[in-house]
Amino acid sequence: MEKENNFLCPECGGDKAYSVMEVSTVYDPDDPISGILEWISCEQCQNDIPAHIAERWNGLTTEQARQEWQDVYRTKSKR
Ligand SMILES: [Zn+2]
Repeated sequence: MEKENNFLCPECGGDKAYSVMEVSTVYDPDDPISGILEWISCEQCQNDIPAHIAERWNGLTTEQARQEWQDVYRTKSKR
């Protein structure tokens, strides 16, 4: 039985996460980053990926996840 999480890094395609970060921020409609409450760090490339992208919530496809990562979040990565 596969019971691992379904983490998939949109940056490098890695499937191993090494930490989950929960943050609480005040939501600012002009800053999509502020709405992210959970980030997952990729073991392979060490990027911090929003959990909804890394685990592809709401039926997000791998392709859509990658696109959203690149368009919205990647340039704002803190590292
Ligand atoms: Zn990665």
